[in-house]
Amino acid sequence: MESRRTTVVVIGAGPAGLATSWHLTGHGIDHVVLERGVVANAWRHERWDSLRLLTPNWMSLLPGDEPHDDAHGFMTATQVADRFENYQRRHLAPVRTATTVTSIRPGTSGFNVDTDDGPWQCAGVVVATGASGAPRVPAIAEALPRSLTQVTAHEYRRPCEVGDREVLVVGASASGVQIADELVRAGRQVTLAVGDHVRLPRAYRGRDIYWWMHAIGLLDERDDQVVDLARARRLPSAQLVGSSTRDVDLGALSRRGVSVVGRLVGIDGHDALFSGGLRTLVLGADLKMRRLLDRIDAYVDAHPGVGDVEAADRPELTVLPEPATRVGLDRFDSVVWATGHRPVFSALPTGVLDRTGRLRHRRGVVELPGLYTVGQPVMRTRRSGLIAGIGQDASSIAAELAQWVGRGFDAA
Ligand SMILES: Cc1cc2nc3c(=O)[nH]c(=O)nc-3n(C[C@H](O)[C@H](O)[C@H](O)COP(=O)(O)OP(=O)(O)OC[C@H]3O[C@@H](n4cnc5c(N)ncnc54)[C@H](O)[C@@H]3O)c2cc1C
Repeated sequence: MESRRTTVVVIGAGPAGLATSWHLTGHGIDHVVLERGVVANAWRHERWDSLRLLTPNWMSLLPGDEPHDDAHGFMTATQVADRFENYQRRHLAPVRTATTVTSIRPGTSGFNVDTDDGPWQCAGVVVATGASGAPRVPAIAEALPRSLTQVTAHEYRRPCEVGDREVLVVGASASGVQIADELVRAGRQVTLAVGDHVRLPRAYRGRDIYWWMHAIGLLDERDDQVVDLARARRLPSAQLVGSSTRDVDLGALSRRGVSVVGRLVGIDGHDALFSGGLRTLVLGADLKMRRLLDRIDAYVDAHPGVGDVEAADRPELTVLPEPATRVGLDRFDSVVWATGHRPVFSALPTGVLDRTGRLRHRRGVVELPGLYTVGQPVMRTRRSGLIAGIGQDASSIAAELAQWVGRGFDAA
């Protein structure tokens, strides 16, 4: 099939691809957005039924987006998908759905982009395929008995689909704690295996924690200001749920009946083994949370203009019963792997990936000239991994592309 031509190919019609398209249109750059599924596919098809955004509506906006009626609410996954779909229609973003990009190769002039719907030629490519293309499941999953039903957080939809006995939820970032909370509230016995985690209160001194992180400038810390960038890019999402009235930290889950244990470290015969280091991890998470709250208090003291805030209402340190380190597997009939996600860059030339398969880039600019990315964690700032940061990042990448195609790489 003969190649179609455009100036820029954007891969992925999630929020990053749509925001990039908005800015490319602003620069008058001809482009196409290729999407393997539907617009906002991840939000339409890869989230569980009860999921709500962690981030409040006032900050979950794309460039040129209309403000929400309920600024302090939290959208469901379906509402997010509907909103992005409307955004695409309103801005006439040139999306071609059901088109999977299978390879991107640098050519004599620009790039050859192969898809399951034929090839494209273009001067520049923006990879907006997301940071969570596939679930990350540890190798230990292979050692579990076949009788256990195993699902990832990508596949999990609702409590009734994971057997009817005790569930082992592995991972205690936002997904793991939310799923454990939903299961225990549905009357299920739940054991939650906890590794590194980030504890935050939903609200502090009468305001949402994201309001504070925004106000104190934490979300605007640039990649070159972050002390350990590699770690910041891997940081698990905070133990929060999109509700102003419910906490899902480990103490709250334990009080609801969840058995909280350490990291799942091995299988020994018919037993699951959990690390004895849980207390240290829990203490570390409490201390980091306190450090953030200290920073907020200092900000309040230094900024009388912040308005009326409530007195400092520090959450209690986490109290948990003595955790088990060896549990018989026959207690469980299902396991939910909430052990994180990984990006999928299989269409890219291997030279642009590091040893762990991650895309090497500096602020979204890949070493291969003409290749860019948007939507990666801490790409330019700490807000980059959030819908709230995508607009700024897409704007800077569109400006880079305007320069790149201005240098004579216009495919027209
Ligand atoms: C469980 C969960 C909860 C989250 N909660 C929040 C939250 O509360 N607030 C927040 O701001 N962020 C949240 N995030 C992060 C959120 O995913 C991002 O903010 C946002 O969706 C990232 O947008 P994106 O466009 O980069 O990626 P995605 O939304 O993942 O979009 C990538 C798109 O690329 C397409 N694609 C992939 N490969 C190809 C290919 N080869 N060819 C064509 N198309 C392809 C996919 O189908 C998809 O539509 C959450 C993430 C997860 C996993």
